Amino acid sequence: MIDPTDIRLDDVVRMRKPHPCGGYEWRVVRLGTDIGARCLTCDRKILMPRSQFAKRVKTIIQRAAMNDE
Ligand SMILES: [Zn+2]
Repeated sequence: MIDPTDIRLDDVVRMRKPHPCGGYEWRVVRLGTDIGARCLTCDRKILMPRSQFAKRVKTIIQRAAMNDE
């Protein structure tokens, strides 16, 4: 499982299970207690608690740019 505190806006993640549209890749579009993500395949948005989101993510495939890297 990824670190729930290590999710950044604009990260692209791969989920363990596919969306009903068949897509696995999502972009983080909202950060807070709940994480908002947009499916890169069908463009739909989801919102779920950060801990649940972290469990569903298999890997972060593209990190958003950070100044400290
Ligand atoms: Zn989708």
